[in-house]
Amino acid sequence: MHRIGVAQGKGLENHGMSPHSLLTARLLESVPLSSQTKHLLFEVQEAPFDFVAGQFVSMKALKEGREITRAYSIASAPRDQRTFDICLNRVPNGFFSNYLCDLEEGAEVQFHGPHGLFVLRNPVRDSVFIATGTGIAPMRSMLDWLFAEPTRHEGRQFWLVFGTRYSEDLYYNEQFLEMERKHPNFHYLATLSRDNPGWTGARGYVQEHVAKIVGERQDMDAYICGLRDMVQANRDMLKGAGWDRKSILFERFD
Ligand SMILES: Cc1cc2nc3c(=O)[nH]c(=O)nc-3n(C[C@H](O)[C@H](O)[C@H](O)COP(=O)(O)OP(=O)(O)OC[C@H]3O[C@@H](n4cnc5c(N)ncnc54)[C@H](O)[C@@H]3O)c2cc1C
Repeated sequence: MHRIGVAQGKGLENHGMSPHSLLTARLLESVPLSSQTKHLLFEVQEAPFDFVAGQFVSMKALKEGREITRAYSIASAPRDQRTFDICLNRVPNGFFSNYLCDLEEGAEVQFHGPHGLFVLRNPVRDSVFIATGTGIAPMRSMLDWLFAEPTRHEGRQFWLVFGTRYSEDLYYNEQFLEMERKHPNFHYLATLSRDNPGWTGARGYVQEHVAKIVGERQDMDAYICGLRDMVQANRDMLKGAGWDRKSILFERFD
């Protein structure tokens, strides 16, 4: 495993199983976050199950006899080697997202993992986390991990820039506001791209706000997650501002 596994204090042994071994997750809770989005809490039946904040699992299901696999970022920090959350939105006419959103509590789904290198760099520097929509999932995992222990975040500054169209889609908004109240080195900026009557917060696309936050700085890391166009727009902006590509980590959902 890469260096961050050590930084997060996890061996990722998973009972010696490879991340490609098929495991079973039981859905313990399915909670709506908005009309089209759900927060799902799963329990792995073959615990211990370890992962590094920011990684994803690959879930499998049968559709008309054919096996379908889709990736879902883990939306929780490593906590008990047994459970993980995902934050999922229904894609119109999409098979897997609707299958999971309609799953009954107590039902089981097969998956393998953890996978992915979208994890905190080691050492952690001042960082800006940039997400739209359910791209917030790996950010929640990383931020919950960082702010769980003072030694993980002290002496550094962290910004979360979260963009959605409408205020109802600011998933985990209260949690991030609370994190900001508790930690003077965490700065949360929620921005809406559509007209929302009554909204007094930031407006526009995430990259416009990120540009203002980073200013002339290049000694930071950026973590970007969401759909392709938004990821590209932010990478282009940061590269145009002279950033080293190693400082720009990203995960695309489409
Ligand atoms: C590494 C990784 C992590 C991911 N993590 C998450 C996550 O945490 N939460 C989450 O909700 N999704 C996540 N996704 C997206 C997820 O894997 C599926 O692509 C998504 O759920 C749609 O699958 P589907 O079978 O319902 O739709 P499909 O039948 O595969 O797609 C239907 C149509 O929707 C488009 N589409 C695909 N994905 C999206 C999307 N996310 N938003 C809008 N349109 C899309 C496709 O291009 C296609 O045209 C992740 C993807 C990757 C690669």
